[in-house]
Amino acid sequence: MQINSFSLENTVNEIIVKISEVLDTVPGSIVVVPHSNPDGDAIGAAYALAIVLKNSGRNVRIITPNDYPGFLNWLNGEIEITNFLKNRKEAKKTIKNSSVMFCVDFNEINRVDEMKKSIQDFGGIKILIDHHPYPSDFCDLSVSDPTYSSSSELVYDLIVSLGMDSFLDKKAAEALYAGIMTDTGSFSYSTSRPSMYKALSALISFGIDTESIHSKVYDNFTADRFRLMGYCLLHKLVILPEFRTAYISITRDELKMFNFVPGDTEGFVNIPLSINNIVFSALFIEKENLVKASFRSKGSFPANQFSALHFEGGGHKNAAGGEAGTSLEKVIEKFTQLLPRYLHLLLNND
Ligand code: 5GP
Ligand code: MN
Repeated sequence: MQINSFSLENTVNEIIVKISEVLDTVPGSIVVVPHSNPDGDAIGAAYALAIVLKNSGRNVRIITPNDYPGFLNWLNGEIEITNFLKNRKEAKKTIKNSSVMFCVDFNEINRVDEMKKSIQDFGGIKILIDHHPYPSDFCDLSVSDPTYSSSSELVYDLIVSLGMDSFLDKKAAEALYAGIMTDTGSFSYSTSRPSMYKALSALISFGIDTESIHSKVYDNFTADRFRLMGYCLLHKLVILPEFRTAYISITRDELKMFNFVPGDTEGFVNIPLSINNIVFSALFIEKENLVKASFRSKGSFPANQFSALHFEGGGHKNAAGGEAGTSLEKVIEKFTQLLPRYLHLLLNND
């Protein structure tokens, strides 16, 4: 198949040459690692990269720092995926026996939670493949470009740049399509670069069923998830029109009430942005020892800076996350008290 050839816009060719050299000259197994609580992009990019490497003759495994949501479990079969939290021994053995590690869809070591030490201590070559801004320096080679819609789109361009597109197959194309689809909210944001459509066009040429992929990802939730969503929208959504902000908080008891499983709250934080005049939305979820925060914004409001400054987090300008080690009540208090400081940015948002 003829695939449009183009190079990564913000990655010097030298890096591509070095990655190519590593793949050509460093023998042994390869391990691919997405971030903790992996989303469609993290799993899609990791899975496709692993398939391409496997098709090129390498022994490849994926290790996820924790479980991945059920709506992505159709991405399996081709590559062995080990859950670090569930199979620490096996995961550590895989890491020890590998010579190259790809870190996919994260650029900060804390994003892998309990897997942090295993990655830091890894004796082989670490290669970062990511599209978040402000990368930290924990890998030997980095392909880091925040102009990309998703790590999946970036993986596609990387594969082409490495001249490995002959190793792409339908399964890998499905994974990359799913990654781009989920990280753009089904092609509703981060979709202004024409080259994303070139990548999509090449992926669709593999004969993938785009409708079925959408359905597998978005029509695969439990009824409880929608009851939790309804409950949150009716009882837990707080709207602060004077700050053009809305937030939802969920306690552990509430999660239990609706038989929560990972992935159930995916997308909740985006909903308030569909309300007229709301430009900033937050979701706070009470976990065992901390509160997980998600932030979404519209226009110029920098959700990632807000998260980095106040919730030990980061992410993209319009989609960020973080955490706090205090109670849910304290987190809400802190959040609402911070808003007046951002009034100017919220009101003059474009
Ligand atoms: P989500 O709200 O879906 O968990 O995450 C949204 C975005 O923020 C993603 O791009 C994710 O990588 C980033 N993000 C989420 N949680 C954290 C965090 O704790 N730290 C950092 N640095 N980024 C995060
Ligand atoms: Mn991503």
